[in-house]
Amino acid sequence: MREKLDLLLEKSKSTYFHYPVSAILECSDGTLFKGVNVETASPQAGICAERNAIFSAISNGYQKDDFKRLYLKAGTNQLLYPCFICRQALVEFCNLDMEIVIYFEEGEKKVTVRELTPYCFSGADLK
Ligand SMILES: [Zn+2]
Repeated sequence: MREKLDLLLEKSKSTYFHYPVSAILECSDGTLFKGVNVETASPQAGICAERNAIFSAISNGYQKDDFKRLYLKAGTNQLLYPCFICRQALVEFCNLDMEIVIYFEEGEKKVTVRELTPYCFSGADLK
């Protein structure tokens, strides 16, 4: 999966921060949804790779129980964790035990959504 993420990095639109990121969301039926970060001059109008992949899957009719694993890689080869906006999307649209595999220079790190989001706020809190 690392090689697919490396190829995908070339599609990132990271004109301003020069921090390309690629994400691939693997579904239980084997379907892969790709995402890259897309920046604009107004940062709020852009989107991170993680949410791009998740929203693409949702747009194609997939739901949280279909999501098996999320793979991430930064073009810098640094260990990268999802930002807090993406963590909110992960809590809302993925199961808390879904695994996230983050590739970096020294290898890979595996974490679950739950490990990334202690004390999270979600729709369950609004009931
Ligand atoms: Zn993000």
